[in-house]
Amino acid sequence: MRRILITLNLIFLNVLFLTAQPKRPVNELDKKVDALIAKMTLEEKVGQMTEVTSDVVSATTNGVHQIDADKIKEAILKYHAGSILNVSGHAYDRKHWYEVISAIQAEAAKDRLKIPVIYGIDAIHGVTYTQGSTLFPQEIAMAATFNRDIVHKAGEITAYETRASYIPWNYSPVLDLGKSPLWPRIYETFGEDPYLGKTMGAAIITGYQGNNVGDKYHVAACMKHYLGYGDPLSGKDRTPAWIPDRYMREYFLPQFAEAVKAGAKTIMINSGEINGVPIHGSHYMLTDVLRGELHFDGIAVSDWRDIEYLHDRHHIASTQKEAVMIAVNAGIDMSMVPYEYSFYNYLIELVHEGKVPLWRINEAVHRILKVKYALGLFERPVGNPDDYPKFGSDEFRKVSVQAATEAITLLKNNNNILPLKKDVKVLVTGPAANTMRSLDGGWSYTWQGDQSDVFAADKNTILEAIQQKIGKDNVNYESGSSFDSLQNVEKAVAAAKKSDVIILCLGETSYTENVGNIDDLNLPVAQTQLAQALAKTGKPVILVLAEGRPRIVTQAESLSAATIMTYFSGNEGGDALASILFGDANPSGRLSVTYPRFPNALVNYYRKNLENGNPDDSHGYNPLYEFGYGLSYTTFNYSKLHLSKPDLKENETLTVTVDVKNTGQREGKESVLLYTSQLYASIAPDTKRLRAYDKINLQPGETKTVTFKITAKDLAFVNDLSKTVTEPGEFKIQVGDQTQSFNYISNTVPDRSGKL
Ligand code: BGC
Repeated sequence: MRRILITLNLIFLNVLFLTAQPKRPVNELDKKVDALIAKMTLEEKVGQMTEVTSDVVSATTNGVHQIDADKIKEAILKYHAGSILNVSGHAYDRKHWYEVISAIQAEAAKDRLKIPVIYGIDAIHGVTYTQGSTLFPQEIAMAATFNRDIVHKAGEITAYETRASYIPWNYSPVLDLGKSPLWPRIYETFGEDPYLGKTMGAAIITGYQGNNVGDKYHVAACMKHYLGYGDPLSGKDRTPAWIPDRYMREYFLPQFAEAVKAGAKTIMINSGEINGVPIHGSHYMLTDVLRGELHFDGIAVSDWRDIEYLHDRHHIASTQKEAVMIAVNAGIDMSMVPYEYSFYNYLIELVHEGKVPLWRINEAVHRILKVKYALGLFERPVGNPDDYPKFGSDEFRKVSVQAATEAITLLKNNNNILPLKKDVKVLVTGPAANTMRSLDGGWSYTWQGDQSDVFAADKNTILEAIQQKIGKDNVNYESGSSFDSLQNVEKAVAAAKKSDVIILCLGETSYTENVGNIDDLNLPVAQTQLAQALAKTGKPVILVLAEGRPRIVTQAESLSAATIMTYFSGNEGGDALASILFGDANPSGRLSVTYPRFPNALVNYYRKNLENGNPDDSHGYNPLYEFGYGLSYTTFNYSKLHLSKPDLKENETLTVTVDVKNTGQREGKESVLLYTSQLYASIAPDTKRLRAYDKINLQPGETKTVTFKITAKDLAFVNDLSKTVTEPGEFKIQVGDQTQSFNYISNTVPDRSGKL
């Protein structure tokens, strides 16, 4: 019976779609695209919607993947494949990328209409799969800089180096809310705050795309993974989430809405299901919200195999063919199939059977071709190798150093033990001390980042960076443990006894997606045991946390004299850390996620008042370190928080100023964070929310006045009817330790008693 109802439902929906072609505005580029579409056969159109992975067109010769002449011929001339993605095996050098892309585009030029292929790659923290590229900190660390300019710059450099690898399409940024610390992809996000996520997202997208995405230095961004990927119930990748529509709109959607405004050309869809609805089959999410509300007109590409999974995993389609029908009718424009051509065959059949309307195909192909034209692929399918002298340059490296330096977050510094003098004898120990994997994380040279020690051999691990900084003679090294078992801990203890200070590097190796799933947020026991054994020597422990997510370290951390979070801080993370440890740089990072104290107390900072941890509520909010926390080697004093008016009315702007003074002895950068709290609202308000931030540099003794502008829109929330409103009432503003109150007065939105 249920099956019959579902089938009837689908028939009804099909009738609706068959007759409901939406109108779109037409400009010169649209006309050009339409003229090309008019010449295309159905097969050629469906080919454009088909994306295969590079393995499908490759053969391995002497251990290196090359384009296979027969396979590429089949992909392009038989199936008219519009897109290819990824890398086979491992990172290539630029010369090899040139050969790969040239071979593909040469084949495309043999096809009847000579439509270039759009090649896509996950250049999520630099151009991941090109040897010698500039690898930046991962997004979670970029967010910790609270510096939009450096994020924008990293986007520009990544775009340059991606084009230098002849690739025009970047599956980045990840705009998912980094809400669950268990989730193995939280490090790929800009952290737990929607405002931080949306501002950082827009900064990197404009860096990727520039003013003209078609020039030789820019690439099309792909915001991902729309929508609600970052908070699976189990914490495991691609497992079901329960997210009410109101929450979706309040915390998960704003980042995508902002990215659309910033001009992002493409979007990738969440592989998961929310409230039982797989997003790849959701007409509501893919068309009503994405197109109808956000007015996005670029390409919606599926994630890996996700149309097939509507059948295999989610069981909302009883056959693969039905899965294709559901996804394309829901709004998917391109299928990352990616291993074979069944999507192509099924979709052609479905159009002939009238189950997918031709207008839906034309619409999808229109979006795809428009991006290909915008990227300049028709004129320049392969770039010129000589156009990229700055690839992997020192100029670019320095930006990565700065990003890592501004990201690394000092969480504890008892008795100002840091910075250390350069003549101390240190023991460097712990599983993260001597591997690039704990600096780069996943998506580095390979999908899992498991070859970083080979491909980034010329970069410094934490150990190597410290040795370079203070000389090998001052440094002892013993690993003490692997990531999950003790290894010669006695040797580490003996070496600690001969040293002045212990630099203990705990954390994680590289991972992503399901490979990074965990059942326990606690740091593996062995690492805590190593910390305990070392602490018993009485030598001060500087705890370095090199990890993609905030693993619970409460026991080990209670033994440290200083604690530093490096996240996955990229190829220059070791050097940046060494500069901070020994005082050549002053830390200025602030946590972009809450650092929990206990594995079963995972509350984000934008908690409810109920969770404020008052004495009557032992289950309250009590993290180890709060979102936005971070120390410096200097001190800052906040004063004179001033609001330009006591009341904010609709259409007015409230100007907020605050003085920040460097009261310490050395130059330092300070992230100035502005939070607001609405005291009472028609639904339980969040305790506080980040509404603005800025990063300033101050010399000792220097004062700067920081100015923020707040309008009613900045204070809005999504109410119980899923509408975004700013309700009148009293608000508190908080910047540093300063607070002020003001009232918001509205003529159009009633207060809680219903009065205007
Ligand atoms: C990931 C995406 C990625 C795609 C292509 C998928 O498994 O979820 O983030 O862009 O693979 O590599």
